[in-house]
Amino acid sequence: MADKQNEKKVTPRSEDFAGWYNDIILRAELADYSPVRGCIVFRPDGFAIWEALRDELDRRIKRTGARNAYFPLFIPQSFLQKEAQHVEGFAPEVAVVTHGGGKELEEPLIVRPTSETIINHMFAQWIHSHRDLPLMLNQWCNVVRWEMRTRLFLRTTEFLWQEGHTAHATRAEAERETLTMLEVYRTFIEEGLAVPLVFGRKSAAERFPGAEETYTVEGLMGDGRALQCGTSHFLGQNFAKAFEIRFLDEQNQMQFAWQTSWGVSTRLLGALVMVHGDDQGLRLPPEVASTQIAIVPIWRKPEERDQVLQAAANVFQALKAADLRVRVDEREGVTPGFKFNDWEMRGVPLRIEIGPRDVAAGEVVAARRDILGPAGKSRLAIGAVAERASALLDEIQRNLLKQARDSMVANTRQFIDYAALRVQMEGEGGGGLADIYWCGKAECETKIREETRATCRAIPLDQKVEVGRCIVCGESANERAYFAKAY
Ligand SMILES: [Zn+2]
Repeated sequence: MADKQNEKKVTPRSEDFAGWYNDIILRAELADYSPVRGCIVFRPDGFAIWEALRDELDRRIKRTGARNAYFPLFIPQSFLQKEAQHVEGFAPEVAVVTHGGGKELEEPLIVRPTSETIINHMFAQWIHSHRDLPLMLNQWCNVVRWEMRTRLFLRTTEFLWQEGHTAHATRAEAERETLTMLEVYRTFIEEGLAVPLVFGRKSAAERFPGAEETYTVEGLMGDGRALQCGTSHFLGQNFAKAFEIRFLDEQNQMQFAWQTSWGVSTRLLGALVMVHGDDQGLRLPPEVASTQIAIVPIWRKPEERDQVLQAAANVFQALKAADLRVRVDEREGVTPGFKFNDWEMRGVPLRIEIGPRDVAAGEVVAARRDILGPAGKSRLAIGAVAERASALLDEIQRNLLKQARDSMVANTRQFIDYAALRVQMEGEGGGGLADIYWCGKAECETKIREETRATCRAIPLDQKVEVGRCIVCGESANERAYFAKAY
C-alpha cells in the first residue's frame, strides 16, 4: 500500500501555495485531472465531503421553505438572449450543442451555465395569481462554463452546485429572501466548514449579469487571497419582464414578479483546503469530514495482534453507535508512522491509537489533527470513548474556526494611503483583505484593480454612518469596502 504517491514530498505551503494546493488535493485523493481539459474527477474522499456539505445545506435551504426540483441540462439558445446583461455576461463561456442524433439541430442548445432562463420560462407558465407566490425552488446540478485557465475545484469547466430561484409578489419580500439566503450561506459556511467570512454587497462591476444587487460571502485563503464562497442575487423584475412572469395581485392588477437567485458550488472544497490545510495535508472540520476518526491498531508481536484488533473493533462499535464516522486502519505491511502520516494527509480530525499496553490499561490515545505533536494527544478510557471523542471533535471544530478567524483578522488591514495599499498588494501571493473607504465611483475601483490587481470583494451591510475620504480620489466616501486579490 505504500505507493509511490505517498513517498513523494508535498510542496511546502510557504514556498509555493499553488503547488502545495494541487499536491494536497491529489495526495489526499479528493480529485484527479480528467482526460477532458478543464474538467476534474471527484474521487470518493472528495465527493464524500461534497455530499456532507450538500446534505447539511439542503436541510438548511428546505427550512427556509424552498423545495428541490430539476430542470434540463440543455437550454434553447434563444433563451439566453432574452435578458440583455445576462447574455453579455455568459455568452463568451457557453458551450453550444449544434448536432444531435447525427443531424444539425434547428435551434442550437446551450449547456446550462446557470438556469435563470429555463427556470423563468417555466415560472411564466406556472405563475398567474398572487396565490401562486412565493414560488421558491432549488436545484442541485452540474453547470458548464468554458474556462480558459482552470484550477482544481476553484475554476473548472464543469462544476457542481445548487442554484435557488424564487419569485415573490413584492420587492420587499424578494429583498428579504436575498438577505435570508445570504445569512443561510454565512452560518452554514462558518458553522459547517469552519471558514470565517466577510459579507456584504458587490460593487456594480462585480454584480451577477442581470441582477440589480448581488450579495456575497467571502473567505480569506491561507495565501492572503479572497475566495467568493457564495452569492445571493436580487434580480428585481429584470427576468420577470424578459420572460413575462406576471400575476394578478389582490386588487386584480397585473404585476411582474420580483425575483432572487442564489448559489454555492464545489469551490467550497477549495476553500476547505486553502483555509485549513498545512504542510502535513488537509485538516477537515469534523462536521464535513467523511471520516471523523481513524483508529490505528498497533502491535509488534504476533500474539498481541488479536487482542489489539479486538479492542479496536470494540472502540469502532462504540463510536459507530454514537453516529460518528469512523474507520479502522487494518492495513498490514505498513508502519504505524506511515499510517499516521497518511491520515494526517487526508485531514481526518481525530486519530485513535491502540497498542497492547493501552488495551491492558483500558485506554486509547487520541491525537488531534488541529494540534500536532504531544500537545494534541490525550488518553481516553475505552468505557467512555464515544463521549470523550465527540467532545474532542466539537473542540476541534471550534478550534479550526478560531485559528482561521485569527488568521483572517491578522490579515485584514485598514488603509488610508493609496501608496501603502499598492505596496501591500505587490508580489505574486495575496495581500490580505484591505478595508478602505471607497467613494463608489467605477473609475476609482478600476484604478485599484489595474494597479494592484485587488478587486472589490464586499461592501459590508449596516455600516456606521461615518464619512471618510476615498483612498483613490480623496473625495468624500460614506462607505467602507473590502478589497483583495481574489481567486
Ligand atoms: Zn474615489
